[in-house]
Amino acid sequence: MFDSVLIANRGEIALRILRACRDIGIKTIAIHSDVDRDLRHVALADQALCIGPAPAARSYLDSHEILLAAQLTGAGAIHPGYGFLSENADFADMVERAGIVFVGPPSSAIRTMGDKVAAKRAMIAAGVPCVPGPDSTLPQDAAQIVSIGAETGYPLIVKASGGGGGRGMRIVRDPANLASAVQMAREEAGRAFGNPEVYVERFLEFPRHVEIQVLADNHGNAIHLGARDCSIQRRNQKLIEEAPPPGIDPAAIDAIGRRCAAACLAIGYRGAGTFEFLYEDGEFHFIEMNTRVQVEHPVTEEITGVDIVREQLRIAMGEKLAFAQDAVRLDGHAMECRINAEHAFNFTPSPGKVTRFIAPGGPGVRLDTHLYPGYEIPPNYDSLIGKLITHGPSRADAVARMRRALSELTIEGVETSSTLHLALLDEPGFAAGGIDIHHLERLMANGF
Ligand code: ADP
Repeated sequence: MFDSVLIANRGEIALRILRACRDIGIKTIAIHSDVDRDLRHVALADQALCIGPAPAARSYLDSHEILLAAQLTGAGAIHPGYGFLSENADFADMVERAGIVFVGPPSSAIRTMGDKVAAKRAMIAAGVPCVPGPDSTLPQDAAQIVSIGAETGYPLIVKASGGGGGRGMRIVRDPANLASAVQMAREEAGRAFGNPEVYVERFLEFPRHVEIQVLADNHGNAIHLGARDCSIQRRNQKLIEEAPPPGIDPAAIDAIGRRCAAACLAIGYRGAGTFEFLYEDGEFHFIEMNTRVQVEHPVTEEITGVDIVREQLRIAMGEKLAFAQDAVRLDGHAMECRINAEHAFNFTPSPGKVTRFIAPGGPGVRLDTHLYPGYEIPPNYDSLIGKLITHGPSRADAVARMRRALSELTIEGVETSSTLHLALLDEPGFAAGGIDIHHLERLMANGF
C-alpha cells in the first residue's frame, strides 16, 4: 500500500496521473525541470520539486535525481507515465530496491519486452502470432544469413533487437542487398542502442496498426480491453487513434485479446500494457509490447468505461482487478486526435506562448490537456499539447463530434495540428475506415 505518488513525467500525462490519484485519495508529488514550473499539475500537486534544468537528460531522465526526490518527499510510489524512464528496466529496479512501488510491471518483464527477439520468443511460446521469421538474432556467418533470408522470404525487414523509435530498420526487397543492409543495420543499432544484434522478419507491405490493451494484477488475473487502431501515422508517430478498429470482426479481436491476456500470465506481467500488432489480410502479427500506459489509452477508456490509470494505481497497491473478462463491455466508438504544437502540414515544431485558449465541450467530448491561456510551451520536449477525444454510439457519431470539437477548439499563439485533423476527417480513405499505416504519408506525397 502507499498513500502518495511521485509523478515522474510532465505535460498532459502528468496531469492525467494527478487526476487519477485525486479520484482515489492519493497524495501527489510533482517533479519538474526549471522551465516547467508553470505546468498545470505542478500547481495542483500536494508537493512540487524542481529537479534540474530543461534538458531531459538532466531532469526527467535523471533517475538518481528522481529517486532522491522520492526519498526526500517520502513518496510511496513512482508513476513513470509514458516516454522518459517508463520503459527503463534499470530505473524500475532502482525504485523497487529503494522500497518504493514502481507503478508498472516488474523490471524483468520490462527487460524481456525491451529486447525484441526475447519478446518475440516469449510471444511465440505463449501462442501469440508473430510476423513470420526466425526467433533469434542473425549469426555472423554470411552464408547462413543468405539462407535465413531465403527461408524468411522477400521482402523482409532487418530490425535491431534492442531497437526503438523506429530506428535501426532496413527493408530488403532484393536478396543481393541483404548483406549490406544487415551490416548497416548492425552499425546503426550499435551506435543508437549499444547493441548491434539484428534479426529479420517478413516485411508486410500494407498493414494496419492494431493494438490490444491489457491489464494484469498480482493475483493471477489478466484481461484485455479490446483493440485500438492507430494506423494514421507519420514517420511512425501516431496522429489519430480509434477504438474499436473499423471493420475487424469483434470475435477475432476478442480471440487475440485473450491470447495477450494469457501471455501476460506467462511472462509474469503486472499492470497496464499494450501488445502492438500489424494487421494484414485478416491476420494479426505481433511486433512489440509497450510496458506502460500509452498516449492513446483514453479511446479504450471511453468505450469500456474503465479508468486505466486508476487501475494501474490499484494494481500497484496490490489490489485485485475489479472485474473479469466477461464483464468487459465495449460501448460505441471513440476517436482521439493528438494536438501537437507544430505546423499542421510540414510538422515543424511551434513552441511559444498560448495567447488564447478555449476548450471544446458538449456531449461525447473529452480534452486531456495541460494548456491554459498564457501558458508558455517550452521548446525542449515532445510537441504533444493535448488529446481531443470523442465518443459516440457509432464511428460516424464519433467523427461528427470530433469535427464539432476541433472547430470549437481555439488555440492561438502557436500553430497546431488541428487543421490537419479536420482535413483528415473528410478525407475519403480515412472516412471509409480501415486504411493502412502508409495512408497519411501517401496522401502527403500527393500534396494533401
Ligand atoms: P520501434 O520499437 O522502433 O517502434 P517496431 O517494431 O514497433 O519498432 O516497428 C516500428 C514500425 O516499423 C511499425 O509500426 C511498422 O510501421 C514498421 N514495421 C516494423 N516491423 C515491420 C514488418 N515486419 N513489416 C512491415 N512494417 C514493419
